Amino acid sequence: MEGREGINRIIFATENPGKLREVKAILADLGLEVLSLKEAGLTTDVAETGDSFEANAILKARAVTADDHTIVMADDSGLEVDALGGEPGIYSARYLGENTSYRVKNQTIIDRLAGKTGAERSARFVCAIAALLPDGTLLTSRGTIEGQIGYEERGEGGFGYDPIFMVPELGRSTAELTPQEKNAISHRGRALTEMKEKLRGIL
Ligand code: IMP
Repeated sequence: MEGREGINRIIFATENPGKLREVKAILADLGLEVLSLKEAGLTTDVAETGDSFEANAILKARAVTADDHTIVMADDSGLEVDALGGEPGIYSARYLGENTSYRVKNQTIIDRLAGKTGAERSARFVCAIAALLPDGTLLTSRGTIEGQIGYEERGEGGFGYDPIFMVPELGRSTAELTPQEKNAISHRGRALTEMKEKLRGIL
């Protein structure tokens, strides 16, 4: 096993292209190559059986076997809607079934909030990141962004629940932000920025 100075790349364990775009943009200035599982020629099949975002991020990172030059990083993220008791939460990707379109998922959430206004529509995106170093060191970080569920889908950017996630200070949904604007304030942007600082401290 080489020391940490031998580390030259990060494999980010996701197959979600929307996430990967954001992750590559945010980690670009770390000076390490950032690859998806597919780009690294790897696959994993991990059951997300954890009971928290952190537990699932750690499960995903531990499921990848990498060499001594590689940090394996994974995230688990989702949308918590307060009026729905925190649903869909850690089940965000599986809400109403993995293959159900986001048009349907988003409209269902809007319909379930019928009659609620303003702060009653409060919600947040949460992202936990786990990073596993070749020497077995495990780092975690977490980021959130607070917002409100909109009354209709808005915007073409982002992915998933972005068209119904309104950022009150901006009066726009996260699907209406440029990638740079979203990365600067998003749950994933904040969690990755915290992770970058932790990595800079020990590499
Ligand atoms: P994961 O891939 O198991 O972490 O599932 C995360 C799910 O949460 C995604 O498939 C989306 O449904 C939702 N999600 C997480 N981050 C975002 C985001 O930035 N915008 C919109 N939806 C998100």
